[in-house]
Amino acid sequence: MKHLTIDPKHARPPTRTHLHHPQSLPEAITTALHPSTPGNENASLFFIGTATTILEYAGVRLLTDPNFLHAGDHVHLGPGVTGTRVTNPAIYIEDLPAIDAVLLSHYHADHFDELVENSLRRDLPIVTTEHAKDALTSGKDAGEAFTEVTSLGFWESCLIQCDGKGRNVAVKVTGTPGKHVPDGLMSKANELLGAVPPTNGWMVELGSVEAGKGDESFQNGYRIYISGDTLMVDELKEIPERYKDQNIDLMLIHLGGTTIPSPSIPLLMVTMDAKQGIELMELIHPEVTIPIHYDDYDVFLSPLSDFKKAVEEAGWTDRVVYLDRKDQFKFRVK
Ligand SMILES: [Zn+2]
Repeated sequence: MKHLTIDPKHARPPTRTHLHHPQSLPEAITTALHPSTPGNENASLFFIGTATTILEYAGVRLLTDPNFLHAGDHVHLGPGVTGTRVTNPAIYIEDLPAIDAVLLSHYHADHFDELVENSLRRDLPIVTTEHAKDALTSGKDAGEAFTEVTSLGFWESCLIQCDGKGRNVAVKVTGTPGKHVPDGLMSKANELLGAVPPTNGWMVELGSVEAGKGDESFQNGYRIYISGDTLMVDELKEIPERYKDQNIDLMLIHLGGTTIPSPSIPLLMVTMDAKQGIELMELIHPEVTIPIHYDDYDVFLSPLSDFKKAVEEAGWTDRVVYLDRKDQFKFRVK
């Protein structure tokens, strides 16, 4: 198990370019709760856009897949592959509150854009893939490399904790499999293979550890599975096997049916569409599912309305919560 110690006093801004950041989370437009058993909420998930969210529990804040570009901005997604953002993030990067660590599923411009890469404070802790760690820490000009990057392979874990006495808040993050391109690609599609970086999903467990005791003292209070940009592949079947008899409280599912190289040449789908999303719900069986990464780029060809329809047809409307940008979901960590 890897370790990351944080000190969530929120005294420092998350970026090096904008020095006056708010201390508190942005105000949400609407607040969603557990659809069947709400009550005693003590943690929140704020949706910024694409796969960008802020998870907050007991003063600890995690930022996922930071993407702060605006409508009309382009992202380079590989050789010959570009996307255009069609939405605005809920907040500007200069309005991002202080955060303690970033969870980056993969190094792709719709998850970690140029603006973010230039702006973030170099010593902000980032948990990500080996591939992304290389990109963030090597081959950069002096002073440009990120200095606190932790990589996790599939099923490798990192315990993020705060120092203190007694029982301390801790977050256990485990890399889960993800596959951004399907197997068996031919010719043209093979060229695109190099364009699509390897990706992780995450199991994020919010809980606590006993001060002075080892990792085995970790107790989970709320378990969140974040799919990352994966397709519905066989490798994901290991997730319910490994977490057998352990409740998955929440699933954040990256939808969108991202299709490259462009909307006019829809050659290869590299993220789940509505049908695969339903299959993943069936496999993981989370109590609550929240779709993210569904309409922010012109290369996302599967609209959220397709998923909503599929959820209705499956009779699962009470198991899904929909957030628009600037909405939040509040939940209870035991
Ligand atoms: Zn993506």
